[in-house]
Amino acid sequence: MERYDVVVVGAGPAGSLAARAAAEGGARTLLLDHRVELGHPVQCGEFLPTALELSDLFDCPELIAEAYDVPSNTVLRATRTMTCVSPYGHRFRFPLSGYTVSRRAFDKALAIRAEGAGAALEYPVGVTEVHGNEVVCAGGRRVGASVVIGADGPLSTVARSVGFAPVRTMFRMITATVDGPLDDGIDIYFGRTAPHGYAWFFPRAYDANVGLGVARLPGGVSLDRLLDRFLERHRLGPGRERTRWWVPIGPPPDRLVYGPVALAGDAANLVMATNGGGIPTAMLSGWLAGRAAARHVRDGTPLGEYDDAWRAALFAPLDRAFRVLSFSDRAAGFDPLLALGMRYIGVAGLDAMMRLRWPPRLGRNS
Ligand SMILES: Cc1cc2nc3c(=O)[nH]c(=O)nc-3n(C[C@H](O)[C@H](O)[C@H](O)COP(=O)(O)OP(=O)(O)OC[C@H]3O[C@@H](n4cnc5c(N)ncnc54)[C@H](O)[C@@H]3O)c2cc1C
Repeated sequence: MERYDVVVVGAGPAGSLAARAAAEGGARTLLLDHRVELGHPVQCGEFLPTALELSDLFDCPELIAEAYDVPSNTVLRATRTMTCVSPYGHRFRFPLSGYTVSRRAFDKALAIRAEGAGAALEYPVGVTEVHGNEVVCAGGRRVGASVVIGADGPLSTVARSVGFAPVRTMFRMITATVDGPLDDGIDIYFGRTAPHGYAWFFPRAYDANVGLGVARLPGGVSLDRLLDRFLERHRLGPGRERTRWWVPIGPPPDRLVYGPVALAGDAANLVMATNGGGIPTAMLSGWLAGRAAARHVRDGTPLGEYDDAWRAALFAPLDRAFRVLSFSDRAAGFDPLLALGMRYIGVAGLDAMMRLRWPPRLGRNS
């Protein structure tokens, strides 16, 4: 049987960062993905906060400096503001620095960096099961590893293989590309447009990423129909390249290490509940998992070091984000109440909520 020190399943942001950290740490690393083209089809809004904004949420500046390096040639536009739009069209605009990236280019660029660090990258190779230290691929190929990192997204085969069953709601997501609107702000829309979720316009270089995500579909209405209605309201056609996918939202899990297996990114349920953004946490958790795997291989440091590391860096803000979402979700099913709540807390409150500082009585990162 083939053997590697570390096998990483999934070459999304979590897997590529994990493979890079493991390879840089001296581990013989294999990175597998079942896609024919990495990063495609795009199932993403393609928005990322700057490292500075991320540091405002996660108190781990060294980790962010090491792992959160957005390839500049994948950036489509720098954005400066976020506007929250109430169910009745009131707009609340506040500063938020970020970028939109071409996810199609972004995933490839991160995988190429992992290869550059010495990881072997193979695709399309689907993984069907993991038994302890053994990874089983489609067609029966078996690969042995001292550590297996499951970075295979929200429907993770690796997570299922080790019995990881977190509390979560799978949000249904749909996205497309449309012409315009183009400015340097991202817009998110609340209310019946996307019940218990939100819809967005994120400007790219010459067009816009549009989409929405919902916790559950209102009776008889499909995800496509919700998007059609949203686009019709903005006098836009159906858009191009529609894709549908999932985002797992729930409290952060207790642990992510199961014997020789470690989970990262969406496979580990590490998504910011307040906005559904999971790329930054995928990159940070992937990096920590890869680094812990390399140490484990090199000098026998227990793999459980990864659980300590991701908890220290990510747990408190993710936990708080979930509680902020649970709090604000009480108004989400009833547009008049939601509109009233948004006017009541105003632009400062919405800004603070996105930064996990509101409501104060939930405690900052407590
Ligand atoms: C519509 C939509 C919009 C979003 N918008 C944003 C946004 O604007 N900003 C943001 O930060 N987050 C956004 N997210 C969330 C974000 O896309 C994810 O959190 C992020 O991609 C997680 O990265 P990951 O590496 O953990 O998983 P993924 O990016 O899902 O990567 C997993 C990889 O594993 C591979 N894989 C899966 N199963 C197997 C298998 N069995 N064998 C081999 N390979 C496998 C897949 O092909 C994939 O390449 C959005 C999600 C959706 C669905």
